[in-house]
Amino acid sequence: MSAASTEVWVVVVPAARQTEAVSAELLGEAKRLAGGGTVRALVVGHDVEAEGAALARWGAASVLLVDDPRLVTYQPERFARVIASAVRTEDVTAVLFAGTVLGSDLGARVGNELGRRFHGGCVNFELAGDKIKTVRSVDEGRHHQVELADGKPYLLSLVPDTVGTGAPAPVRVTVEKVEVEVEDGPTALQDLGFIEADPRTMDILDADLVVAGGRGVGSTEGFAALKEVADHLGASIGASRPAVEAGWAPYERQVGQTGRVVRPKLYLAFGISGAPQHLAGMREAETIITVNSDPAAPIHGVATLAVECDLHEVLTALAARLRAREK
Ligand code: FAD
Repeated sequence: MSAASTEVWVVVVPAARQTEAVSAELLGEAKRLAGGGTVRALVVGHDVEAEGAALARWGAASVLLVDDPRLVTYQPERFARVIASAVRTEDVTAVLFAGTVLGSDLGARVGNELGRRFHGGCVNFELAGDKIKTVRSVDEGRHHQVELADGKPYLLSLVPDTVGTGAPAPVRVTVEKVEVEVEDGPTALQDLGFIEADPRTMDILDADLVVAGGRGVGSTEGFAALKEVADHLGASIGASRPAVEAGWAPYERQVGQTGRVVRPKLYLAFGISGAPQHLAGMREAETIITVNSDPAAPIHGVATLAVECDLHEVLTALAARLRAREK
């Protein structure tokens, strides 16, 4: 297979809670897999053109859009048939699905529709001539299973956060509507909706709002005040390394080079100086609000809004305001 004739699609289903970060990582891997070939994002849903256009940040120059009011809520059987129909219309080399629970379920269903094996849970894949070599982590990471498979289109999913995303590099995007048949009527599986996870226990990587504290918070009591604000906002707790080392937050809440790399919509940083090792874990948050009494603290340099004052005053005022709002 020549590189130029390689066509790789990335399936994007916002209704299945597929985040932009997951799609961005898949697009990066799609480009690597395609070599000099074509990469397209197949965006499926209703009123999802904006989500499609946003993928231009991650280098998706070509977006195929299946837009239909019957695709407003996630219905795995219906979505799988739609995706399989779209794939059948082109000579696609490989189709990448999110390696999330819902993405893997969808990939398996599309495989069923197309009569193709779904290679779920990959940590790597390479084209080897006409074949594909896949690598999956098994046995709780103690072994890697390597397989060589034949038969396009290859249906693959990548475990999220395996390679991460590069820096955004916007390109001009063309959006093309694809007409495929969408079935009416009930399907065997009924969608009963999503129940929100508790921000206090959810993985910080999945949190839209993070309230993070550093050494400047000063004590366990200070961190309790931080948690109260986080609870009112429905935010998850994050922490700098010294805050974790002080025992104010568990290690899985550490943000930074040796912790987690988060990209929430809002990152509120209290009493964090902004060492490079911390910035590495949060500078890609959409909006960053920093509260630090030192005007020269480097964290202010990455802030959307920098608040230069005592963090305890801010926490007290914020908690009172949020409490009053809930009454
Ligand atoms: P500090 O640097 O001590 O900053 C505290 C800040 O609080 C100060 O800026 C101060 O002005 C402010 N402050 C104090 N009191 C108040 C108040 N009352 N009101 C308002 N502001 C106040 N760090 C991480 O966070 N994550 C990592 O993953 C990580 N990995 C590392 C890996 C390596 C190899 C190394 C060498 C270091 C790593 N570090 C990491 C540590 C990092 O270098 C910094 O030491 C650390 O991030 C500093 O944490 P901090 O900002 O909480 O504390």
